[in-house]
Amino acid sequence: MEKIPDSRCKKLKIAIDGPAGAGKSTLARLLSERLGLPCVDTGAIYRALALKAYRLGVSEDDEERLSQLAKELKIEFKKQNNSWRVYLDGEDVTEAIRSPEITRLSSPISKHPRVREALIGLQQELAKDGVVMEGRDIGTVIIPDAEVKIFLTASVEERARRRYLELKQKGYEVDLEKLKQEIKERDERDSTRSVAPLKKAEDAVILNTDNLSIEEMVEAALRIVKERCGTR
Ligand code: C5P
Repeated sequence: MEKIPDSRCKKLKIAIDGPAGAGKSTLARLLSERLGLPCVDTGAIYRALALKAYRLGVSEDDEERLSQLAKELKIEFKKQNNSWRVYLDGEDVTEAIRSPEITRLSSPISKHPRVREALIGLQQELAKDGVVMEGRDIGTVIIPDAEVKIFLTASVEERARRRYLELKQKGYEVDLEKLKQEIKERDERDSTRSVAPLKKAEDAVILNTDNLSIEEMVEAALRIVKERCGTR
């Protein structure tokens, strides 16, 4: 892999894309800690928009109103006691955006081209001074100039199993088969939408996390960063 000049590594941008449940949030958070970079989970932006639409009773098909809400969206990511909290219009919505209802709604609202368009500037602004940013179109659309691009994947079975454990731990009643089905549907919708579908950037490195522990996943990603930026 081609090495990049040290000067560009000072404001390093790392793009992590991949399907739901591949481990993107965990990897982004740990890489940001290890590298001293801000961490931005762009799924949280779409989730916050879904929450706002849900509360206001805006339909998931109403592109006009959704894109208006997206333009006005006030999102902040703040680090507190080692975790990144998400604020929507000044309210901490970190937990609220993870409910099954908002998870479901976040995918159909994000397929609208004008909604995505309205959120590009906000994401680029959050990335400009260096970042570990994760989502679906980060390496392809939001920061195509990222020095490091990782495409994180895992089998549907493994991703469903992880989501199951995560939701169980939070006290939700969940069914593993139903989760698997929902993940498949979300993958299908995210990969086939006309604008910014989930797809690997040409210059992204694929990292499959099926048989990797969290520490092994982080080490593998750090090796990819090091190959590009020897100083890190
Ligand atoms: O990553 P997470 O599961 O939190 O994302 C929630 C939803 O937001 C995804 O299913 C996807 O539809 C959408 N999303 C997107 N583009 C991104 C990040 C998330 O379309 N960059």
